[in-house]
Amino acid sequence: MHTLLPTSIVGSLPKPAWLAQPETLWSPWALQGEALREGTHDALRIAVHEQHRRGLDIISDGEQTRQHFVTTFIEHLSGVDFEQRETVRIRDRYDASVPTVVGAVSRREPVFVRDAAFLRTQTDQPIKWALPGPMTMIDTLYDRHYRSREKLAWEFATILNEEARELEAAGVDIIQFDEPAFNVFFDDMRDWGVATLERAAQGLRAETVVHICYGYGIAANTAWKATLGSEWRQYEESFPLLQRSVIDTVSLESHNSHVPMDLVELLRGKKVMLGAIDVATERVETPEEVAGTLRRALEFVAPDKLIPSSNCGMAPLPRSIAFDKLSALSAGTAIVRGELEAV
Ligand SMILES: [Zn+2]
Repeated sequence: MHTLLPTSIVGSLPKPAWLAQPETLWSPWALQGEALREGTHDALRIAVHEQHRRGLDIISDGEQTRQHFVTTFIEHLSGVDFEQRETVRIRDRYDASVPTVVGAVSRREPVFVRDAAFLRTQTDQPIKWALPGPMTMIDTLYDRHYRSREKLAWEFATILNEEARELEAAGVDIIQFDEPAFNVFFDDMRDWGVATLERAAQGLRAETVVHICYGYGIAANTAWKATLGSEWRQYEESFPLLQRSVIDTVSLESHNSHVPMDLVELLRGKKVMLGAIDVATERVETPEEVAGTLRRALEFVAPDKLIPSSNCGMAPLPRSIAFDKLSALSAGTAIVRGELEAV
């Protein structure tokens, strides 16, 4: 990729209303069977079209073929019973009814490989595919079998690595692991979280990204953020470990957040996918606001290592607003590119 400051979204885009209920997480599908498969691919086509039209450089599927970034992956594994549900506290923040691990977990079949191969046919630009990280997966389950968060995380890491290798073979250029749990469970992250992430990425030739954020713009997350004080220093725990890891790129939340920008310095040498679009507000950023965030980041990251992005997934936003935010990301990035090229 030769573009300076290549732009990318973190993952999800809103789905069309004919496919799933808008502005809702875990929203049920409006179609079934073959019509659903066709519908998700039609929605994926639209997501790609809008990313092209609005100037994105790295193209994602907008997560149009999955109901949820963690649950849909787990649905394709054996050893997990979706009928047996328990209420657990997710990321120490909100209660959710989750499936139960009842036996050894394994991947019955490729999960997203067919969808990724379809995305590959829709664009000549680099494509990125997101998978949940091992630690975030175990946080979305009740475990009756292993009874050890660490053991289950290692099992998931092996499964994720199988899937990632097949995604790579299907033409995916960049594989991203979503690990918001790294902003919450610091002891586990230090003890085995980063190691299981590296296991998931083992042997990949595709570029690898880890996305760590403060969550979607939903009420439970907004309330949690309000308790974090005026400076959010959670990244201080993960960044030094990730700087020494095999992962190529770290994706973080920045725009409108209370994350001190100088924490980016802790990643020196890595690529930085920086959130310059707030996903928790329906107000569309101006290009100048996006440019301002990118300029501040460039004090701590080399221009050839900065990837302008959104803070997190955009699934819960109204569709037209999410698309306008893509345009704002491109326009703001173009301003800074111009400045860098003028030097
Ligand atoms: Zn996120």
